[in-house]
Amino acid sequence: MESMFNPPLHRQRHQFVVDFVKRNKPQKVVDLGCGECTLLKKLKFHREIELLVGVDTNGAKLQKKKNGLAPVSADYLQPAFNQLRIELYQGSVTQKDSRLRGFDLVTSIELIEHLTVADLECFSEVVFGYMIPLAVIVSTPNSEFNPLFPGLEGFRHTDHKFEWTRAEFRSWASKVCLEFGYEVEFAGVGQAPSDQQEQVGFCSQIGVFHRLRGRNDMFCDGAEDVFSYTLLYIINYPSLQDNNILQRVLVSEVLHCAEKLKSRWIEEEANERDDIASLCQTEKEREGGLLKKPVEIPQTAACGAEMKNPAEQCVRGVLKREDEEALRTNDEGQQESGTLNRCVPVPLAALWSSCSKVRALSGSLTNLRHLLIDKPEVKLSQDGSALLLNDQEHDLDEEDLNGFEDCGYSEARQCPSSAEQEEDWEADV
Ligand code: SAM
Repeated sequence: MESMFNPPLHRQRHQFVVDFVKRNKPQKVVDLGCGECTLLKKLKFHREIELLVGVDTNGAKLQKKKNGLAPVSADYLQPAFNQLRIELYQGSVTQKDSRLRGFDLVTSIELIEHLTVADLECFSEVVFGYMIPLAVIVSTPNSEFNPLFPGLEGFRHTDHKFEWTRAEFRSWASKVCLEFGYEVEFAGVGQAPSDQQEQVGFCSQIGVFHRLRGRNDMFCDGAEDVFSYTLLYIINYPSLQDNNILQRVLVSEVLHCAEKLKSRWIEEEANERDDIASLCQTEKEREGGLLKKPVEIPQTAACGAEMKNPAEQCVRGVLKREDEEALRTNDEGQQESGTLNRCVPVPLAALWSSCSKVRALSGSLTNLRHLLIDKPEVKLSQDGSALLLNDQEHDLDEEDLNGFEDCGYSEARQCPSSAEQEEDWEADV
């Protein structure tokens, strides 16, 4: 399968988008169903883009992959001239969110075939009728190519709801154009052997849609703002237009150190839990399976009293709802919509004492607090003494999750296995 396409098909699809971006220089781009964020990671190097957004229903996957979108040292050493902000949202393309209106380019790469017929209707209405971008790139499998896959029966992936012939894709695309005022040109990637190319077409078929009407008559529909997506990640890249590079470096360093502290605390807490479990087991065995007196479980682990670090409060769900309500919204009022997750408070004092770079950049603990206040990437507790991290952001696997009760990991647990599956047919080719 791997040898069927060179470069692999998924890379060819992303390169198709990159080539479009190079030619058309969009400033605001959103990738719907961004999955592993692979396309976003490529697009972030194209600094004519000033706002780059990813949307996917699978929040756990976004949390896992988001760090690959952060600036690297070179971005600070040689900042680009243009500004760049990257945002990741958990949400469904079947729902409207006004933050995604008026983009220059929307991409939907191997997404629509995962939607039911009803959801595909919503997708068309949301993307072409509500977001109304200048251009849309849609790629989807071409079912006429499938006989060339040795051994393939049925669809290329178990989660696919349909796979279209070229005629079916054209028919859907033409209907969309008529209804919403776009024109479309067709292309594709993944060539068949030359003697079969005309007969079966490309392995992935692509529609590139262009809006017919100009910008001026858009968005005067008086529609109210809708925030149905949950903002999971936001990062501003350094640029020569900033006069606060130091603050950006500091924020990035603070978030990095805080994540590391949080992971360490949660791991320690899990180890402690294991120790207690084995203590109980030994006691049981000693008593021949009959517990004559209660096993003395240390208070620290049993009920959270005298916890040795704040992360423990979180994993036991101690952080109160009032605290959550008190979370700051960012500069643009982008309060995360939907259900708020529990947060892990990481005291600024702990960051200050454990991260030498944070100390060097901020100079004093008071300065640190001052520099972080009002930063959109950072949530502080109401009294400003601790950084609040979403507890979903810890990259745990299923085994790690088992010990935690209602700790905000429910979304990770609920992910349908199909959504977690690799796109075996597609990723391979
Ligand atoms: N576009 C990516 C790429 O080219 O590598 C990933 C494609 S993957 C085959 C499909 C992605 O669509 C998955 O990450 C899945 O979680 C996401 N997805 C499925 N239904 C969705 C929906 N209703 N809204 C947003 N994303 C969705």
